[in-house]
Order: sequence, then C-alpha cells, then structure tokens
Amino acid sequence: MDDYMLRASAAEGNIRAFAATTGGVVEEARRIHSTSPIVTAALGRLLTAGIMMGSMMKDDEDRITIKIDGDGPMRGELITADRRGNVKGYPYETDVILPANAKGKLDVGGAVGKGTLTVISDLGLKEPYVGSVNLVSGEVAEDIAFYFANSEQVPSAVGLGVLMNHENTVNCAGGFIVQLLPGCPEEISSKLEDRLRGIDSVTNFLRRGDTPEDILRFILQGMNPVITDRLPCRYFCGCTRTRVENALSAVGAKELRSMIEEGKPVELSCHFCGKKYIFSREDLESLLRQAEPQKKA
Ligand SMILES: [Zn+2]
Repeated sequence: MDDYMLRASAAEGNIRAFAATTGGVVEEARRIHSTSPIVTAALGRLLTAGIMMGSMMKDDEDRITIKIDGDGPMRGELITADRRGNVKGYPYETDVILPANAKGKLDVGGAVGKGTLTVISDLGLKEPYVGSVNLVSGEVAEDIAFYFANSEQVPSAVGLGVLMNHENTVNCAGGFIVQLLPGCPEEISSKLEDRLRGIDSVTNFLRRGDTPEDILRFILQGMNPVITDRLPCRYFCGCTRTRVENALSAVGAKELRSMIEEGKPVELSCHFCGKKYIFSREDLESLLRQAEPQKKA
C-alpha cells in the first residue's frame, strides 16, 4: 500500500478527522538513521502525526516542526512537515534498546522519559508560533492529544502506531487524529467517545490490513463521515549544498579560520537524510572571504 493520508469531516462539520498509512515513510526513516525498534516506533509515530498536522496548515510555504525533549535514553526527536505530505525527521539517539513495557510492547515512553513536546508553526511570519506542553507519557499519541487540548483548546483523539517485522524492518505504520470543532453538541462528543472506547490500538487496524478509509469508517460510524481529501505522503529532505554552505558560514569567521588552520577537509552530513557534504580547504577559504566584511584599504 502506497503511503497516503485522508482528511475528512463528520457530524455535519462538528468533527474533523485525519488518517494516514505511513509504512513507507517510517521504513525510509529507519533505513536512513539505522534505528533500533523502539526508536523506529518513536520516530515513526511522530512522523505520522507530523504528516497529519502539516496538512492542517493553510499555505504551501507553511512548515510545522514538532520536537520532543526527554530525560530518557533516547533524549528526544524532531520532525518537520509541510502541508503536502512531505515529512522528515531524526531521533537524538538512534540505538536505544529497552525491555518491553508492562503491556509487552515497545517501551517508547521509557525511551523518551519525562520532558516536553514543542510545536513550532512557521507560517511565513517573522516569528513562528511556538506552543509547548509537558509530556504526559512520552508515548507520543497521548502527548499530541494533550498538546491539542491545552495549547490549541481543541479536544482531540490521537492514535499512532508502528508495527515491526521480525528482522526489525517496518511492517506497517499509520494513525489518526479526530477533533471536535468549537460548538460541537454534547451528544456528538459522547457518541465519538463511545466509538473511541472500542479502539485498543492503531496497530490492530494496521495488522489486519485496514486502510485509512477503514479506520475513519470505524471511528466515525453513524456520524456521516465525508472524505474531503486524499494526499500521497513521503519522506522527503530538500537539503542542498547551498543551504549547508549557509549553515557553515553562519558559524562565523573565527570558526572557519580554525577549520582552515587544521588543514583537513570538513565533512558535514544532513541530520535528516544523512547526505554528506565535503568542503575542501579551498571551499572553506572562499566561504571565509564571503563571511569576512570587506577590509578597508
Ligand atoms: Zn538532507
């Protein structure tokens, strides 16, 4: 199944909903970062949330960045998404291994620990909008739901799941976000709560090959769901040598000079896709000339 996400509305516009299948995206992230299963699950859940939250933005240039910082062995992770299904991300530690949790599942909460979830919405304004909440469990879905309720005052149900194969590659991944819009009548919200109570985990849907359509149909049964958009999604990093050069110039003339004095080429790799960029001594010298203000004669 190719990765895609759906946007839907239900209950005569009182509910909006999103669902995605992201196995390809998460497997690509696993391949790039060589992550252990717990880290793959943590990163895959956040990438999946990012795809759906990215699609909530209004303009093509808008970007959303979601960052988790925790005191667990994984320390955290960061993802960035646009509104067209492109997402990329990285974990702070790639190789965490922990025993299964009490439910016999990958202990993502234990790997993340206690900390914060921060959402940075870059809406083309000078200052991006930043919202931050404490982590509820570090299991990601609960933390995103808590963020919506507290930072954006939108009651939301969030499910995110990643299922691994025995050889630690990704079998499937996906998730949903269902939100009550302002003024939603009590009877609709309690009906939705009833439906959500019937869901144990997203992985149960994915395991039996359910599509995002199936997931939304199940959750929104009896509430007239209407699918409004279907959007392909992918892991995509748009890094270029020019952008890396700009980042390198930004370290300042003093740092550049000390790199040049070391006499060795500098190798930088992109955090998101692992692509390597090599800067020779001559490259560094030319960056230094650009970084230094013109000397007065
Ligand atoms: Zn890159």
